[in-house]
Parts: sequence; C-alpha cells; structure tokens
Amino acid sequence: VGCGICVRKCPFGAITITNLPEEMEDPVHRYGQNGFALYGLPVPIEGRVTGLLGPNGIGKSTAISILSGILRPNLGKDASWEEALQRFSGSILGDYLKKVVDKGIKTSYKPQYVDRIPKSYSGMVSGLLEKTDERGALAELTGTLGISKLMDRDISSLSGGELQRVAIAAAAAKDADFYFFDEISPYLDIHQRINSARILQSLAKDKAVMVVEHDLALLDLLAENVHLIYGVPGAYGVITRPKGVRVGINQYLRGNLPEENVRFRDTAINFEVHAPRIEKEIPSLIAYDAFAMKYSSFRLEAEAGIIRRGEVVGILGPNGIGKSTYIKILAGVEKPTTGSFESQLKISYKPQYLKADTELTVEGMLRGLTHGFDSSYYQAEILRPMGIEPLLDKILSELSGGELQRVAITACLSREADLYLLDEPSAHLDVEQRMLAAKVMRRFAESTEKTVLVVDHDIYLIDLLSERLMVFDGVPGILGVAHTPLEMREGMNAFLKGIGITFRRDEETRRPRVNKPESRLDRMQKEQGEYYYQI
Ligand code: ADP
Ligand code: ADP
Ligand code: MG
Repeated sequence: VGCGICVRKCPFGAITITNLPEEMEDPVHRYGQNGFALYGLPVPIEGRVTGLLGPNGIGKSTAISILSGILRPNLGKDASWEEALQRFSGSILGDYLKKVVDKGIKTSYKPQYVDRIPKSYSGMVSGLLEKTDERGALAELTGTLGISKLMDRDISSLSGGELQRVAIAAAAAKDADFYFFDEISPYLDIHQRINSARILQSLAKDKAVMVVEHDLALLDLLAENVHLIYGVPGAYGVITRPKGVRVGINQYLRGNLPEENVRFRDTAINFEVHAPRIEKEIPSLIAYDAFAMKYSSFRLEAEAGIIRRGEVVGILGPNGIGKSTYIKILAGVEKPTTGSFESQLKISYKPQYLKADTELTVEGMLRGLTHGFDSSYYQAEILRPMGIEPLLDKILSELSGGELQRVAITACLSREADLYLLDEPSAHLDVEQRMLAAKVMRRFAESTEKTVLVVDHDIYLIDLLSERLMVFDGVPGILGVAHTPLEMREGMNAFLKGIGITFRRDEETRRPRVNKPESRLDRMQKEQGEYYYQI
C-alpha cells in the first residue's frame, strides 16, 4: 500500500478510484512530510447519531482527534488553529471547531479494541463504571445492556461481549458534549446490538454522537446520517459530506459515489429478495444423530441433521446459547456427554477467539498448511481477495485484530479438509473485508465442493454467504437447542421470530432494512410469518 493517489486500479483488488475530488489538493491534516493525509472532516451534530462508514486505517481516529481538540489540523503544512478555522468558517463544522478552540469540548470515547481494557484497568466492574457515572444514568444503562449482574465481577474475568457492553456503558455514562463510539457490535449478538443502538440514540436526544460501525443492518438502524470514507488505507482518506443513512449505505454497497464522482469498487453487492430455492439434488456430506453436551450450568441439545456437500450453512443464535460448543464438538475439540458426533471427516476449524503466540511469519505459517500456496487458484481466489499479500512477511504475533482475523480465515481455508468451521469470522473486519470474505468463502465452497459452516451475527454477511441456516434457541447460559439445518426462508423466519424483528426491502437496491417495531409493515409481516423474504 502507499501508491498515494491512484487513478489506476488498486493492486490489492478492492479499490478503483476513477476521479479525484477537488479536496485532494489540500488535506485537512497530514502526518509528517509524506505521511497519511486526511481530506475532509465529519460534522458532529447535536441531537443526531452520525455514522462513519469506511475501511480501517482510513483516518477515522485522526478525524475524531481533531473534533475532540486533541489534534490541531495542520492543513498539510504547519497551519495554526486560526488558519484552520478560516478554512472552515461559515459552515456548521466551522462553528463546531470554533467552539472546540474557544471553550474546549469534552469528548467521551468508546475504543475499538475492548479486549485491551483489562490491560489498562484492574478491579471490579462497579469500580470502573461508578467512576464514569457523571450523568447518574448508570442503573438505566446497565439495565438496558443487561450487565447489572456483572457489577462485582473482576474486569479480567469478562468475555468479549461482556467487556463490549461495559465499555459502551462507561462511555455513555460520562457527561460530554461529543460522544464517539468506535464500533459497538463486535462480540454482541443481534439483540445486544439493538439494545446498544438504543442507548446511542437516547444519548443523541441532546448530544452529538458519532459512531463507526461495520454491521450495515445495525448502522442503518442506528444512524441518521453517514459520512462515507474512501481512499487507500495507510496512505490517504477522503471523508465525504454527510448523506442520509439509507442513501449512504446504498452508495457504499454499489461502490459508487455519484456526488463525488468516485467509483471505489468494480461490482455492486447484491442481496436476494426471494428465498433461494435449492432445486437440484445435492449429495449429503454427513447425516448425524442427535447429541447433547452438559456443562455444570449449561446444557446443549443438538437435533439430528444432514449437512450437504459443497454448501455453506450459516449459524444464527444469541450469545451463550452453545454455538461455539457445538462447533467445538463438530471439530472434535470437545466430546458430547450424550450421543456422539462420529465421522471420518477431516475438519478445519477457526475458533472464535484467536491467539497468535508464534514467531512464524504469515507466509511461513500458510506454506506449512497447503502445498498449493504458489498456485494461481490460491493466489487469485484466496490470498489476494483476503488482502493477505501485504501481510506475508509479518510475524503472526504482531498482527492487528483485523489482520489476524483475515489470516485465520485464510489459514482455515488453506488446510485440506472435508468440512470447514468458522466461528465469528466478521469480528474486527471492516465492511469491505466482510463482503470480500463472504465472497471468498462462498466461491471456495462452490469450486472445491467442500462444506463450510459459519457462525456470525452480521445478517448481511450471513445472507451473502449462506445457502441454508441453522438456528439456535433456548435460554442463554442455561439451555441451548441446535436445530436441524433449514432452507433460508424457514431459517430466517425462525430466527427473526425469536428476536421479534422484521426486515423490509430498500426500494432502490433491494437490500434488507430493519422495520420499525409496530410499524404497519412490521405488524403485517409478523401476521404473515414472513420476517425476511418477500413471498
Ligand atoms: P482509522 O481510525 O480509520 O483506522 P487512523 O486515523 O487511526 O485510521 O489512521 C490513519 C492512518 O494514519 C494510518 O495509516 C496510521 O498509520 C496513520 N497515523 C495515525 N496516527 C499517526 C501519527 N501520530 N503519526 C503518523 N501516522 C499516523
Ligand atoms: P455461544 O457461542 O452461543 O455464545 P458458548 O458455546 O460459548 O455459546 O457457551 C454456551 C454456554 O456454555 C455459556 O453459558 C458458557 O458459559 C458455557 N460454557 C462454555 N464452555 C464451557 C466449559 N468448558 N465449561 C463450562 N461451561 C461452559
Ligand atoms: Mg461463541
């Protein structure tokens, strides 16, 4: 990466920028002489949730540091605040920045990587949260987020999803002028994502709230406006003017920004309006019997089922319902307490929580997994679209969360196996990487006739990936039932009925959008039992 301004095709496959916007002449900020340059800024607006939609490394944190008054925008030279204010004067952004300079702005910030919180805080959850409770809103926040019971737990004992909700509560409890949430969805199930969205929306009644979010169904529901950000990660980023959330997401999926006259992807991302029907006879890979797993306080019951050759099965269900346990049993990592999952199948498994404690390089590790590393199939269908090429020389333990996830997905698909199991592959990936990963997994299943099972909470990802669905329900933390794999329509209906949300279709792109609860469409679709697809 680092071609700077590209009028040609990006060598990494994802980005094609045909026209350069005028702002390219003059960045808002540049790190060092040839460092990363940021063009444009998002506008915080009181009373609104504003979304930022774009890849990692494109300047989102840089923009937020400027809006928080921590970083002086140098306009690509060594500009003073006066010069910077001059540049933006007469705009809402100018008025906002003037306030930052004159009176100061208090920002509350939810960091991206919640896994790092236990490294900087120790002690109990109550200690951390009570310190941040400047608005006296803690009881309400912890209630909505379902974390009241965690108050006397040690921070170091929390799971990813628990840490995420504690971090959201901590940021929302502060009394600030400007709230910034760097992703709310990682590790959360759909229910928890929607509840977190409600918290941001109620904060935005009289405050400015900004959010980065890569789960598009959630962003759509959460934000009123979005700024799209495009460019070359690590080299430059361009922040567009605000767009309505619907239009912004549509443009993003199309890969085409008409107002800016920019195309950043060759192909549009499309969703199927009608449930796909599997018409041909597909040979089965395995027919398995019912089994069960009992832990001290949790029990998983799995129904019997058939998994077909060459299909992608999406797995949906709340947190704590036994999805990872089920995957581990299929992978042979755990043995069920009743019945068995016996098979001669070779399995390749990507766990939910990734560890990289080796000094191998990415290339060294991948070459150890496949003989086909140098084949044109592997390079073109897996390495390039997964964005692994720039990482090949890096040491595994030094990768960022998103880089490690892409390497782990790639590693899983590199092994020779019959059945591939991926537990939450979207975690830490940005939108573009999710869409590319979905395409890679689907094409992999099609072209090799291998079977792929994917657990994820991102509905768009699951929709793009899956041919059938497995739904888990029960009582989280106590009892989970793993139902037999279903066709897409049945599966989506079963899952969405359980969480009580329905989707309509966007008129323009036909992408799914969450209906407002109790709206006319919501009530009608619930009556008809059609939660996702049109009949
Ligand atoms: P995002 O939040 O979108 O992931 P950032 O704003 O953190 O992106 O970073 C954008 C780019 O700027 C990255 O390539 C990063 O390496 C670079 N960058 C960030 N902070 C600095 C800094 N203090 N000095 C030099 N480069 C930086
Ligand atoms: P999911 O992946 O759906 O979030 P998990 O399979 O990770 O759910 O966990 C389901 C339940 O089983 C949780 O309540 C979890 O605490 C419990 N559990 C998972 N692994 C173990 C274990 N090794 N011992 C005891 N309980 C466990
Ligand atoms: Mg899990």
